[in-house]
Amino acid sequence: MNNGWRFWLGWLLILAVLSNIGLQGLAQGLSAFLLFLVIAPPLVLWGLRWWVRRQIAVGPCPVCGTSLQGWNQTQTRCPNCGERLQVSGGKFQRLTPPGTVDVEAVEVPESPN
Ligand SMILES: [Zn+2]
Repeated sequence: MNNGWRFWLGWLLILAVLSNIGLQGLAQGLSAFLLFLVIAPPLVLWGLRWWVRRQIAVGPCPVCGTSLQGWNQTQTRCPNCGERLQVSGGKFQRLTPPGTVDVEAVEVPESPN
């Protein structure tokens, strides 16, 4: 990035040479193309960042209040309390309704007959 001015100086030199030998049209076309190359990546990055920001939900865990990040329309698990959460509309919601006690499935040994 520090060599930017050198790059443009070099380009101006090429431009001057090209216009001297009558390739002005080509030079202008290349300039426009170069300008596009310079302008396009930041625009694409900006658009991507905007889209990502829209997709990522940031909010507190409804159970323990830990601040979480997650993709919209996905399921996630709170790293603090382990609660399974649904991300929708930029908010975190419990998958299991409040009051439900998560019971681990315990294998019941079969009683011998
Ligand atoms: Zn939590």
